[in-house]
Amino acid sequence: MTRITIAATSDLHSHWRPGTVGGIAGAAAVLAGIDRDRAVVIDAGDLLTGSPLGAHQTLLRTDAGAEHPLLTALDGLGVDAAVPGNHDFDDGLDSLLGAAAALRRTRYLCANAIGDQGEPVFAPSAVFVREGVRIGVIGAVTSHVQRLSRHGGLEHVRFTDPVTAIADQALRLRPEVDLLVAAYHGGFERDPETGAPLDYDRGENQAARLLEMPGLDGLIAGHTHSARAGTRARDDGARIAYAQPGYAGSHVGVLTFEVEAGAVQVVGARAVPVEVNAPSAHVPRAAAERLEPLHAAAEAWLDSPCPLDDDALHAAVAARAGSRRTALGLPPHPRTWRSLLAHFPAPHGASDYRVPRREFEDAVREAGARGGDSGDGRVPRTATAPRFRVVDHGGADGGADAADSPEQWVAVTANPAFGAHLHPSRVERAHLVDWLDEFARVARHVHFSGATGGDHA
Ligand SMILES: [Zn+2]
Repeated sequence: MTRITIAATSDLHSHWRPGTVGGIAGAAAVLAGIDRDRAVVIDAGDLLTGSPLGAHQTLLRTDAGAEHPLLTALDGLGVDAAVPGNHDFDDGLDSLLGAAAALRRTRYLCANAIGDQGEPVFAPSAVFVREGVRIGVIGAVTSHVQRLSRHGGLEHVRFTDPVTAIADQALRLRPEVDLLVAAYHGGFERDPETGAPLDYDRGENQAARLLEMPGLDGLIAGHTHSARAGTRARDDGARIAYAQPGYAGSHVGVLTFEVEAGAVQVVGARAVPVEVNAPSAHVPRAAAERLEPLHAAAEAWLDSPCPLDDDALHAAVAARAGSRRTALGLPPHPRTWRSLLAHFPAPHGASDYRVPRREFEDAVREAGARGGDSGDGRVPRTATAPRFRVVDHGGADGGADAADSPEQWVAVTANPAFGAHLHPSRVERAHLVDWLDEFARVARHVHFSGATGGDHA
């Protein structure tokens, strides 16, 4: 009888040592304590963006085909299999393919990312052998990548239904392996314990469906940043173990199985909390030597001037949010990346509002009175007050005013500095966007095209 462990991270979001949760370093310290001869280590995606370290790397990433230090760190952590998260596509498919091609140990898996010729663009699955036990791992990502990620660079890939893609792979792999696990960058649409819905079931999260899939012994989920783990019996009588490892290294998911003569017994599943500021001695050197200096460089970069002017920032928000009007409170000059980050805090640095026109005009007046209003040339009242401005970007339907009538409602994307002047009930949609990363991408383009403003499409 062989005891096999599946250990997993997910949604690390480029946090090395964030201070409040474990980060990659903390998770790495937990992984270092696992007996690798009898384990497969998985990362379930959303690794590359979400912290200043990630945004700084986005800014510096001028060669789309090059390795990406955060992805390469998976090699250093001894991760066997990784799946892309929706955010890992933010810099486009080619960029991710280039970074994945540089991996040596880690197999990058995704069964439902399909190219123009109908071919999977990543390996759909891989088989690992531990102490003679054959362990199959199937990777997949939420089919909502195109809606959730930045659109540019994804013209030559489509994301098919992950449940179907995993089922196809499971059917093919099952006869060849002793133990079969799916790693899915998507969350639970229903509580796996109670069956209660966790969100509107739009198909973005389908992990609960995967628990019902015949042939699977284990499931690693991600995307929604929850930490959960458990085991359950399927309708066909078999048991399945599952784990979702939280956010930014808050937890490591650990599934345990006993395998004997091809028969699998589920032993247990845990979401292990990760120690904050794990001692460096427990962090693999290969990863630490690579990421520790990048972490320090990102901290220094935050205090450097941001080259984007107001127009460029408004245009960036409009383009990413798909909005025709933006109302932003922006940090006064001199403007650093850190001050910009403070004005677009995670997780909802900007939201879409729908507001009666009169209420919106009151908010503009109120914001302008509290801070500065660079729109009409008035000087800000204090040096630290945000500069408020409303920009209409026009649109295919002939302009904002035509679209606002006859109800006389205003649709606008605002950051919290401006949104504070609007009633919370007016929020239509909160954008889960890493704005620092988005602005870094625009700044990279400005730098290399020599453009000065908002042209960044
Ligand atoms: Zn995600």
